[in-house]
Amino acid sequence: MGINPLSSSTTTTLESTPWSPDDSARLYGIRDWGVDYFDISPQGNVNVKVPCQGKTVTVPLIDIIEGMQQRGLNMPTVLRIENLLDERIKILNEAFAEAIAQYNYHNVYRGVFPIKVNQQCHVIEEIADYGSHYHHGFEVGSKAELIIALAKQRDDKSLIICNGYKDAEFIELGLYAREMGIPCFFVLETPMELPTILERSKALGIEPLLGVRIRSTVAVDGHWNKDCGDRSIFGLSTASLVKVVEQLKQEKMLHCLQLLHCHLGSQIPNIRNIRGGVMEACRFYTGLISEGAPMGYLDLGGGLAVDYEGASTNNTHSKNYQLNEYCLNIVETICESLDPLAIPHPVIITESGRATVAYSSMLLFNILDVRDHRPEPLPEQLPHDGHELLANLWDVNCHVDGDNFQECYNDALYYRDEIRELFRRGQATLKDRALADNLALAILEKVAKQTRIAQVIPPELENLPELLADIYYGNFSLFQSLPDIWAIDQLFPVMPIHRLTEEPERQAIIADITCDCDGKIDHFANKQGINRTIRLHSLKQDEEYYLGVFLVGAYQETLGDLHNLFGDTNVVSVHIQDDGNFNFVREFHGDSIADVLSYVEYDTKILNEELRQRSEKAVREGKITAAKRRQMMKAFKDSLDGYTYFEKEENP
Ligand code: PLP
Repeated sequence: MGINPLSSSTTTTLESTPWSPDDSARLYGIRDWGVDYFDISPQGNVNVKVPCQGKTVTVPLIDIIEGMQQRGLNMPTVLRIENLLDERIKILNEAFAEAIAQYNYHNVYRGVFPIKVNQQCHVIEEIADYGSHYHHGFEVGSKAELIIALAKQRDDKSLIICNGYKDAEFIELGLYAREMGIPCFFVLETPMELPTILERSKALGIEPLLGVRIRSTVAVDGHWNKDCGDRSIFGLSTASLVKVVEQLKQEKMLHCLQLLHCHLGSQIPNIRNIRGGVMEACRFYTGLISEGAPMGYLDLGGGLAVDYEGASTNNTHSKNYQLNEYCLNIVETICESLDPLAIPHPVIITESGRATVAYSSMLLFNILDVRDHRPEPLPEQLPHDGHELLANLWDVNCHVDGDNFQECYNDALYYRDEIRELFRRGQATLKDRALADNLALAILEKVAKQTRIAQVIPPELENLPELLADIYYGNFSLFQSLPDIWAIDQLFPVMPIHRLTEEPERQAIIADITCDCDGKIDHFANKQGINRTIRLHSLKQDEEYYLGVFLVGAYQETLGDLHNLFGDTNVVSVHIQDDGNFNFVREFHGDSIADVLSYVEYDTKILNEELRQRSEKAVREGKITAAKRRQMMKAFKDSLDGYTYFEKEENP
């Protein structure tokens, strides 16, 4: 027996009480995961809140959606709030600056944004532009990413950190960057890279800036705990590190080795792991100085977590620390490790990805339809020609109460399954089966009501809300827009963005519009834990119902795929001004059907010709008229130009 987790905030109250925005805020946890960036207005709309000229400006998301519609940008849309991107860069740099001042640290912080976390041009341009105030640079893991960094970064004090496997071309690009005065580091992931770097460097006459990536052995909590340890696929073993140092000494190039890189993993929920990782990195750093390397830069990789649950715990999707604590821990640990050895403080680098961009993007979509799981109204009495087992179900349905609900649950499933079996064998009719399913559903609903007021509920009944949940069909593809939900069971905050003065009376899961049973959101986190359903409002006639999936700025956009050929969504970037108005600074129309077909090697001209031939044959055979053929070919062309997602009929 378990204590009833559904008894308070997660269920529909039995008697109707006025419902306030505060109730919605508690239900969806927006004030926990939303930090200070999202809240609910007295009118029941989700507001985005941004700091602007010393004050906080709020804008309802529903107003931004209205602006999108006026511009012909339909759902689903990824909405980026430019101010939030700037704000995250600002607070990261200022938190390090404060920690540096507090510990009288004798060097600076230089952040770099890992381009792989969000490669979209607008995001990168904004980071390069706004980040230049703080000399915030880029981390790159491929030639393509290096080209982006070289082109977009204008500030010569911002660093470029080259991770990943580097071929001669990659190395040449980085050496040319050095020649232009850009502090571009090659981080050795494997000893194999060194000979090519040395050879290219000699050939071009340009000295490289070198770093070494170590394999930390600190065990970290969370999903990405395999990024470190002896079996990590990245970084040098300690034996290889020693060999690299020897090789550099032989080549008289040890003076180029200036950076130590240590990435413990992404989304590290536990601050103690971070402290442990920094301590170990400092030991390697001092070891390299003892070997004669000049050093000067300590790169602690990514890992600064986002609290997707808003629970402030060391659960995988949460974090048990604040940003200032993270910075203070790093600075303090470096001082404690290096000061006793009188080693000069290095430039501190971090490669925070998700903590920089997650907050600024959200996926907005409309609900297209609901599969209501409530039972149909029951007949007044049993049909006289129905199967005799139906009487048992009927009887159970009349007698569910607080003392027998578990027994009723068992009986409902038993008799329902018996009738299903008889139906399979041809011994019960379609009508028998329909009534049995409906009666069983009616009983389960009554049982569920009893479980909400029961002090303890048997474990087998804990999944009842899930069994009874409605399915809300959302206009999006999980595989395209939220791939981590499918790939790694990532949790993101999800909630309606309006109607939050109304009590949401339905329990639901959310399905996307792909034909894939994995295309659904059925885990919802809040402070109390993980729920298998979310409470949503009933749809209203002729009124759209909009949901938002929040904190999706990291990793989701480029990891997405073309499952069912749903393409890139529309993307809108908005900049909020201090008077509360907002500008659509960027609009990107999502893929058309012709676009996605070309990605999978179809030539639309050939498709067009094939359809023309087919329809012409139908004309020849007298199946359609020539005028009909013309109409069909036009519909085909219009479809190719259209959005891959569900489009509502435009009013004529
Ligand atoms: N740096 C490196 C080398 C990484 O592999 C990653 C991602 O795993 C990051 C930085 C970004 O990590 P995060 O998004 O947790 O900040």
